[in-house]
Amino acid sequence: MSSAKVHRLPVKTKRMNPTAVEPPLSQRIALVSGANRGIGFEVAKQLASLGVTVFLGGRELAKAEKAAKSVRELGGDAHAIRLDVTRDDDIEATIATIDGRFGRLDILINNAGGHFDVRARTSKPDIDDIRGALDVNLLGAWCLTAAALPLMRRHGYGRIVNVSSECATHEMCGDNAPAYRVSKAALNAYTQVAARELEGSGVLINAVSPGWTATAMGGSGGRPVAESAEGIVWAALLSERDAAHGQFFRDKLRIAW
Ligand code: NAP
Repeated sequence: MSSAKVHRLPVKTKRMNPTAVEPPLSQRIALVSGANRGIGFEVAKQLASLGVTVFLGGRELAKAEKAAKSVRELGGDAHAIRLDVTRDDDIEATIATIDGRFGRLDILINNAGGHFDVRARTSKPDIDDIRGALDVNLLGAWCLTAAALPLMRRHGYGRIVNVSSECATHEMCGDNAPAYRVSKAALNAYTQVAARELEGSGVLINAVSPGWTATAMGGSGGRPVAESAEGIVWAALLSERDAAHGQFFRDKLRIAW
């Protein structure tokens, strides 16, 4: 037997922090960005229909208020909040408002997205569009998550869903919409890196592709928002037992990055 000294790395336990029990749905507070229309609005509706209290973020407050009102008319507990995810002051004020009113945040849906530059090509870069795509699709989710994490860590519980796209995957990559594809690929990479940091914290972070959906962004021909939102809502409610973390899903099934 060799006498060489074995240097062991410290063993990381799966759970580094004690975590709270899963709160009942009626106690969970959710924030959905870009919830005034499209997939985000539908996710807010579905979460509220399950008894979750939902904050609908919209960069125009009047539109977010209109959306929240229609969720309330369906019997849900919904609140509008002004949230442009590219603005630090909006992000700060949103999290402070939720903290002040409820003292907790259980679910964050990073849904706000845009800059689907379908006619662009990498060889003729529109730098403003590329910066815009990265600002909203990557940095918006990143900064909002960073601001939300202290509230989630407070109770050792959180579910973060980054609404991504399969057009960023190796399998479905094309040569158009370059700013959009690259920004969503970066969001996917961010999801994996953040998941490593959050290991054992009780906060799960995953990316979900809604698939081609009939919205202002997707145009006609896509599937109905209700179908696309289901997979996002599923990831927002993952139980401790499922504990999927740092993964990419579509329709509740794991897909390749
Ligand atoms: P949509 O109908 O165009 O809605 C986009 C939402 O994002 C709107 O509420 C929009 O607000 C909001 N938004 C854009 N920039 C924002 C910012 N800086 N701050 C806050 N909100 C902002 O598109 P959608 O189809 O519902 O898309 C939702 C998500 O799904 C996006 O992340 C998109 O990339 C993803 N996705 C969609 C499809 C599809 O086929 N539709 C496929 C794959 C992935 P305004 O109303 O103020 O513009």
